[in-house]
Amino acid sequence: MISMQRLRRSNDVGLTRFRPALLREVMLTDNELTIPVSGTGSAGMEAALCNLIEPGDRCVVCVNGVFGGRMADVCGRYGAEVATVAAPWGQPIDPDDVRQALANGPTKLVAIVHAETSTGVLQPLEEISRMTHEAGALLVVDCVTSLGGHPVKVDEWGIDACYSGTQKCLSIPPGLAPISFAPAAVAALESRKTKVANWYLDMSMVHKYWGEERTYHHTAPVNALYGFHEGLRLILTEGLEARWARHRANHELLVAGLAEMGVEMLADPKYRLWSLNAVRIPEGVDDVTVRQRLLNEYDIEIGGGLGDLKGKVWRVGLMGTSSTPNNVLMLLGALNAILD
Ligand SMILES: *Cc1c(COP(=O)(O)O)cnc(C)c1O
Repeated sequence: MISMQRLRRSNDVGLTRFRPALLREVMLTDNELTIPVSGTGSAGMEAALCNLIEPGDRCVVCVNGVFGGRMADVCGRYGAEVATVAAPWGQPIDPDDVRQALANGPTKLVAIVHAETSTGVLQPLEEISRMTHEAGALLVVDCVTSLGGHPVKVDEWGIDACYSGTQKCLSIPPGLAPISFAPAAVAALESRKTKVANWYLDMSMVHKYWGEERTYHHTAPVNALYGFHEGLRLILTEGLEARWARHRANHELLVAGLAEMGVEMLADPKYRLWSLNAVRIPEGVDDVTVRQRLLNEYDIEIGGGLGDLKGKVWRVGLMGTSSTPNNVLMLLGALNAILD
């Protein structure tokens, strides 16, 4: 629970300077290096990976959708030897496959997506975290579509580097990527033999800007930081648990309403995201026509399928402020009218 005293203390902080304390509360971590990276979620991905990878490092990258694929691409660009662990789109990564990949050679890090926005799949992390650490590797987690909507327990789950983006479940304008490095990741950064290959995102320099010295590195996007501060304050005012419960309840309302119409979800109930609902397009229904009518006649925009799932699923975002019963019921009503 977020104590009111802690919340009041953080509210006392003036807007002139963002303090990492609020972000640590939202990410459930005591990690000192917890800051917003200048850039969107992809900058967070790049920052998490480029600071930890040195050329030739073996990286096990889990790929069951678009964003796992993007992580593998980024790792390769920093000179990593990439070993991918795949699962079919719509299914989670099997921990046994990660164990096997870790047994195949000394590994620097395991990279995995917690909430695959392209498939609506939630990835359980605790078992994979344990085996990653047993193998002496670091765990890097993409929580862009889970932070603020699903529990993301950075310290409890042993995540070594975790990044998100502001515009998904945090409901803050795009432009910043919250990131957190655990002590083991900071140690890996400090013991590098080579310079970080990305100057802009080099945390060994960026962190000094956020530290006491406040050493200039690059110009902070101060306008975005004002919004970030306020957005985090709103999230903690609602309360993390209450926010997770709200995302869950609205997801369940949607699933139940779709089931009544005979429409099914892509993922198994155990692995369904509450924030991104991947819905199977019913047999004989034209994907684009329905989405265009939703937009033109009802002012509702839902996503189409990506990659392998193009034309097969709709992706209904119920993230942050948009996760409301009203939005769910409006979509169900509109879909009912269109599919009738
Ligand atoms: C949106 C997203 C990203 C990329 O974030 P941008 O803000 O678009 O750069 C990365 N990973 C996942 C899982 C996402 O959903």
